[in-house]
Amino acid sequence: MDKKDDRKDIVIIGGGIIGCVTAYYLTRHPSYDPSKHRIVVLEATRIAGGASGKAGGLLAVWAYPNNIVPLSFRLHQELAAEHGGEERWGYRRVTCANVAAHGRKRSELESLGAAPGFSLGKRAGVAGKGGSAWSEGDLPKDLDWVLPELVHSFEKMGGNRETAQVHPYYFTTSMMSMAEERGAKLVIGSVTDINYADVASPISTPSPQSYCNGSSSSRSSSSSRSLRKAESVTYVDKETDEPVTIPATHVILAAGPWTARLFPAAPIAGLRAHSVTINPAYPVSAYALFTEITVPPSKGDRSTDPVCPEIYARPNNEIYVCGEGDVDAEVPETTADVEVDEARCDDLIAQVSSISDHIRLGRVTRKQACYLPVLSIGGSGGPLIGETRTEGLYLASGHSCWGINNAPATGLLLSEMVFEGQTKSADIRQLDPKRIL
Ligand SMILES: Cc1cc2nc3c(=O)[nH]c(=O)nc-3n(C[C@H](O)[C@H](O)[C@H](O)COP(=O)(O)OP(=O)(O)OC[C@H]3O[C@@H](n4cnc5c(N)ncnc54)[C@H](O)[C@@H]3O)c2cc1C
Repeated sequence: MDKKDDRKDIVIIGGGIIGCVTAYYLTRHPSYDPSKHRIVVLEATRIAGGASGKAGGLLAVWAYPNNIVPLSFRLHQELAAEHGGEERWGYRRVTCANVAAHGRKRSELESLGAAPGFSLGKRAGVAGKGGSAWSEGDLPKDLDWVLPELVHSFEKMGGNRETAQVHPYYFTTSMMSMAEERGAKLVIGSVTDINYADVASPISTPSPQSYCNGSSSSRSSSSSRSLRKAESVTYVDKETDEPVTIPATHVILAAGPWTARLFPAAPIAGLRAHSVTINPAYPVSAYALFTEITVPPSKGDRSTDPVCPEIYARPNNEIYVCGEGDVDAEVPETTADVEVDEARCDDLIAQVSSISDHIRLGRVTRKQACYLPVLSIGGSGGPLIGETRTEGLYLASGHSCWGINNAPATGLLLSEMVFEGQTKSADIRQLDPKRIL
C-alpha cells in the first residue's frame, strides 16, 4: 500500500464511554502506529460528564442487542483482568433480581425518625429468562438490606455469572487515560462543524426510483454522482475560545444525545433520567435490584401506581438508584447545563427508603440527571455503529440503556473498521447506519 494512504487522522467527537473506549481500542489495534495515525478525542465539557458518568453500570449477558452483547460482556471481563478493573473501576460480579415490595408510606418513614440525609428499558432483555421464583421466606440471606416482610415477590435474573457491574465514571476516565498513554490526544472543545469535501463517484448510478418501482424506463444518471467525504472538524477550543479546524480522514461521531446536532440525519434523541447515590448506613451485599414498589397513598398523593427504581449496590459502600425517564426537559446545550429536578431525586430517595433501612438511614451523596441517547425511529433499538453514506463519517451512538455494557464491543469493532475496513469480531450488519440513513 502507498505510504501516503497509510496516514490516518482519526477524530472522535464525544468523550463519553463510547468515544473513550473507541480511542482505547484504536490505540490497541495491531496496525496502530502513532507515527502515522493521529487520534484526537474532542470533548465539549469533561470526560464522562453525561450519562457515561452517571449511569448505573450494570452489565448483563441478557442485555441487547444480542449481536454485540456477548462480545462486550466478555471484553469487560478481559479489560478488568488486564488492567486491575476491580480496583480501578469497581468491576465485580453481581446478583441481579426483580423484587416487588410494599413500601412504607412517607409519613410512616418520617415518624421513624432519622430522616434520610439528604424504565429505562433494561428489563426488556430479561423477560422470560426463567429466573427462580420466590416464595415466602426464600429471600436470599445475604440480601439483608431490603426488609423481608415488605417483599411479596423475588426473582433472580440468572446467576452472578451472567451479571456484573462497573462504576461507569471510573471506567470511562480510565479508558481515556489508557488511550492517552498510547498516544491519543484529548482536547476540551466543542465541535461546531464536520466539514465535507465533494468526491466524484466514477460509477454511474441508477436513480433511487429504479429500486422502488422496478421500471425499466427509470432514469439512470449518465454523469458522475457527487458524494460527500468527511475532511475536517471545527471546534471551539475551551481554553482559548478560538475556533480551530483539524484534518480528519475518519470522523467517529460518538456525541450521545447530541449526535443529531452535528449530523441532523442521525435519528438520535435524548431521554432524561434522574439518579441519586447514597452511602448506606451499614454495608450492603452485591445486588442489582429491579424493583416494583407499591406505596399506600399518603394524603395529597397523586398516584398509587407502583414505581420501579433500579437499585445497584456498589463496592465502594455506595448505593446507586435511578428512576424512569422523562421528557420534561429538552437536551440542553452541554452536559454541564443538564437541569436536575430535585423533587424527582427526593421521590427516588423516598421510594427506596420505603423498603430499606440501610438506605433510609444512609447519607445522600449525589442528586443528578443525564440523557440516554435513544433512537428516535421505531423498528430498531440501536445502537448505530458504522460508516454512514458520507465517506469517512462513522456513527457510534444510540446505545440507549446499555451503553456501558456495549461500549467495549463498539470500540473494538470501530477499531477494526478503521484499520481493516471491516469488522471481524461480530456481525453487526443490523446496526449499520446505512440501513436507515
Ligand atoms: C440513569 C441511567 C442509567 C443507566 N444505566 C446503565 C447501566 O446500568 N448499564 C448500561 O449498560 N448502560 C446504562 N445506561 C446507558 C448509558 O449510560 C449510555 O448508553 C451511555 O453512557 C452513552 O454513552 P455515549 O458516550 O454515547 O454518550 P454520553 O455519555 O452522553 O457522551 C457523549 C459526549 O459527547 C459530548 N459532546 C456532545 N456534543 C459535543 C460536541 N459538539 N463537541 C464535543 N463533544 C460533544 C458530550 O459532552 C458527552 O460527554 C444508563 C443511562 C442512564 C441515563
